[in-house]
Amino acid sequence: MRPRPLCDLHIHVGASVAPHIMWSIAHQQGLRLPVKDYWEFKELITINPRKTRSLDDYLRILHEWTERIQSSPSAVERSVYEIIGKEYRSSGVERIELRFNPMKRNRSGERDMDHIIHAALRGMDQACLEYGVEAGLIFCLGREYPPEQNEIILKKAIKYHDRGVIGIDLAGTETHTIELNDAVGRYAKMFAQAREAGLGTTIHTGETMSTSGEGVIAVVKNLKPDRIGHGIRAAYNDDAVKILADSGTVLEICPTSNLHTRAVRHLEEFRYILGTFIEGGVRFTINTDGTYLCSTNLAREFSLLTESEILSEEESETARKLAFEVSFIKPRAL
Ligand SMILES: [Zn+2]
Repeated sequence: MRPRPLCDLHIHVGASVAPHIMWSIAHQQGLRLPVKDYWEFKELITINPRKTRSLDDYLRILHEWTERIQSSPSAVERSVYEIIGKEYRSSGVERIELRFNPMKRNRSGERDMDHIIHAALRGMDQACLEYGVEAGLIFCLGREYPPEQNEIILKKAIKYHDRGVIGIDLAGTETHTIELNDAVGRYAKMFAQAREAGLGTTIHTGETMSTSGEGVIAVVKNLKPDRIGHGIRAAYNDDAVKILADSGTVLEICPTSNLHTRAVRHLEEFRYILGTFIEGGVRFTINTDGTYLCSTNLAREFSLLTESEILSEEESETARKLAFEVSFIKPRAL
C-alpha cells in the first residue's frame, strides 16, 4: 500500500545510512575497522539507548566512525543515494532535506571539498530520478569551528545553491554557545548573507537538558533562522515560547533522537512539550534526525506520537503538512 507522503526536514547523512551499506563502503575503501565482524560493526555505529547518555556520546559515534567512513566522493555519493531511496520506500518520504558538513567529509583537507559536494549532488540526482522524489542538501556549519572555517562552508553553500544546496545549519555540541559570545555578530552576518543568497536557514539549539530557553531566545533574536533544530527546551521558558510564536520560527522536532540523547526523559514528557507549543502557537514539524543511528523512520516517529495520543490525528496532520510548506525546496518549474 502506498504510504501517505511525508517530508523530512531534519535528517543527517552521517546518521541515516544502513549499517550494511556503511560496511560495504568501509570495505570498498579498505579501511581498517576496530571490529571482528559485521555484528560488532553494527553495534559500533548504531546508538544503544542503554549506553548513550548524552548528545556528546551521540556526536562521538558520528565523528569517530560514520564521518570517517563517508569521507570520500564515492562514499558520499552512495550514502546520499541510498538514504533518499530508503526513506521513500520505508516511510513514503517524498521530500527530503538531507544535511551534512562537507568539511567533515574531506579528511581535514586531504580531499577536495568541491569533489565531495559534486558527489553528494550526483547521488541525490540519481535517487530523485529513480523515485520521483524531491530532495535538497543543507550544509551544517560546526559550532566547534572557528568562524573562518564556517565562512568557507557558507561560501560553498551559496556557490552550489542553484545546483541543489538549499540551506545552511549550525550544528554541534551546545557547549559552544556562539549565539551568546563575541562571535555572534560574525554569525549574524553569515546568516544574513545566506538569506540574501536565497538559502534557507536553520540552527540546532535548545536540544539538551543543560540548555535553557535562553539559547533559543538568543538564536531567534540574533541569527533569525527560518527554523530551529529541536528547540524543545523552549517549552520550559515562557519568553522563548512567545518569541518563537511571534517570529513564526518553525521547530524541527525529532522525538526518538531526544529520547536517546536524554534531552527528554521519557515519551510522556513530549505531551507537555508539544502541548505547550500548540497552546502557545509555536509551529513544529516531526523529523527523524538520523534513521539508523536512532533505529527509527519518519512513519514511526509520527505513530509514536499519535498512538500514545500525545498528538491527535489532526495535530499530526498539521505537522505533516507544515513540513512541506516550510521546506526550503522550492517547487521546480515544469
Ligand atoms: Zn540534528
